[in-house]
Amino acid sequence: MNILVINCGSSSLKYQVINSDTEQCIAKGLCERIGIDASQISYTPAGGEKEVTVTPMPDHTEAIRLVLEALTNPRTGVVKSLDEIGAVGHRVVHGGEKFAQSTLLNDAVMAAIEECNDLAPLHNPANIIGINACRKLMPTTPMVAVFDTAFHQTMPEEAYMYGLPYEYYQKYKIRRYGFHGTSHSYVSKKAAEVLGKKYEDLKIIVCHLGNGASVSAVKNGKCVDTSMGLTPLEGLIMGTRSGDLDPAILEFIAHKENKNIDEIMTILNKKSGVLGLSDNLSSDFRDLEAGYNNGDENASRTLKTFCYRVAKYIGSYVAAMNGVDVICFTAGVGENAPLVRSMVCDYLGYLGVSIDKDANAKRGEDIAITTPDSRTTVMVIPTNEELAIARETVRLVK
Ligand code: AMP
Repeated sequence: MNILVINCGSSSLKYQVINSDTEQCIAKGLCERIGIDASQISYTPAGGEKEVTVTPMPDHTEAIRLVLEALTNPRTGVVKSLDEIGAVGHRVVHGGEKFAQSTLLNDAVMAAIEECNDLAPLHNPANIIGINACRKLMPTTPMVAVFDTAFHQTMPEEAYMYGLPYEYYQKYKIRRYGFHGTSHSYVSKKAAEVLGKKYEDLKIIVCHLGNGASVSAVKNGKCVDTSMGLTPLEGLIMGTRSGDLDPAILEFIAHKENKNIDEIMTILNKKSGVLGLSDNLSSDFRDLEAGYNNGDENASRTLKTFCYRVAKYIGSYVAAMNGVDVICFTAGVGENAPLVRSMVCDYLGYLGVSIDKDANAKRGEDIAITTPDSRTTVMVIPTNEELAIARETVRLVK
């Protein structure tokens, strides 16, 4: 069956078609600047040339119509008609406490997703717009919502509660939810598979280090803790997000810089992280690595602080699980930055981690980067959130 996977943002829409029998991506692309001027769609069939077309896209319905047109184009399309698309899987950022699993979409589910909008005001409304546009154009095709938060719903209360008045949890559901769940789930399962061990027997820590970054602790096949919280701002230092802070800093900056709460939140979300810490050198780890290797002080401070925070989270999750068998690195930085991996692993002597330098230099493979005698295995597992969404979609529509 061919599955169309949609990841819809407020002005962009990523798509992939995955054949669920071969698990291969047969076409993919991106719509950008939806609802703005100079919108464009890119389309790449597997093994073919990437095509970029600049064309008006006043709304998401038009963007999806163009995606479907590209997929069925007689010359370059990958399906003859939309009947060859068996189902659509939609990424949805926040499922609150309502959704601990992926779910088939219907009107009642749509209403329940809308109720989660308060928890992710930047993301969920955009996801919903994408789903509605798809349902309009493909009214008889089954659709599934796959939530970023669902995998983390197994966290115990002591991991998800904040030290705040309990009434805020009761009234507003303020608690830790965690994100990147599809990636944490995919990578932890894949690690067990590659090692030939039972998922349910392992204690795994997944470090998803991309522009957004989070760590999770997966014990016996269930997530028991993760570093992001009510929103994706908590936890690690990220591309432009601060991660963990003393909350009193907000008030301090507000007074010193005469800023209101919205301005402060913009600073924490968009101007902080490795970008801010490096004194605006870059949010891209390629630049930071290059700077570090050239002795740049801003890059050095930033990479050291970033890696120290990752190592601290790993340590806290070893404590939470009373041990660890496997530590996985994934996402843009985790998969491609050997320097970051080795700087993090330098802290892990107490776990008997011994890095194989040649393996750590490789790219694009599911691979252990520790020596055979390393007491804890460290792996690089390229994430594949689209495939994970396609698998969930097939599971629910079959
Ligand atoms: P993601 O959010 O998972 O797509 O990750 C994007 C980030 O990965 C980029 O902002 C870069 O910082 C990082 N990245 C991508 N390629 C490399 C590379 N070759 N070396 C270091 N970092 C990389």
